[in-house]
Amino acid sequence: MLELVKFPNPILREVIPEFDFSNPSEDPKQLEKDMLELMYSMEGIGLAATQVGKRVRMFVIGNAAEPEKGEAFFNPQVIANTKDLDDLEEGCLSFPGIYVKIKRPKAIKARWQNSAGEWQESEFSGYDCKCFLHELDHLEGITYQDRVSTLKWALAVKKTKKRAINVRTK
Ligand SMILES: [Zn+2]
Repeated sequence: MLELVKFPNPILREVIPEFDFSNPSEDPKQLEKDMLELMYSMEGIGLAATQVGKRVRMFVIGNAAEPEKGEAFFNPQVIANTKDLDDLEEGCLSFPGIYVKIKRPKAIKARWQNSAGEWQESEFSGYDCKCFLHELDHLEGITYQDRVSTLKWALAVKKTKKRAINVRTK
């Protein structure tokens, strides 16, 4: 059973080395299945292996409408990105309840290996793009908190606390 790792667990600061399909430290298909299951149970749309305490260069991205279409991205790389940025709201299962707008490229072209070790290539835009980049950051030891000013983060945290108090007094 996988367990969610929350900030400031130091594994969230590690840069994770390439996953070696010829000498795997984990069964890639099992990990994909277990992580998707946990992610859906937490109503997340993306989850990186470090967020479940695994030093595996991989994340999963879900599909709320068609859960079976959720998939794993091993050794992900961004090979091109737009100069134009989107400023969309992000949340993170390792920072429960904190939502903040983060500027990231509008679209990217990326490559990665699926859980069978086959190389794939595709373009991503909108929330899929932002999710891909958010999860890739996790494998580099970067969190979305690092992508905003201290002030913007403090305001987001304050909003979370207010929301929590409102829930408690209901
Ligand atoms: Zn996250």
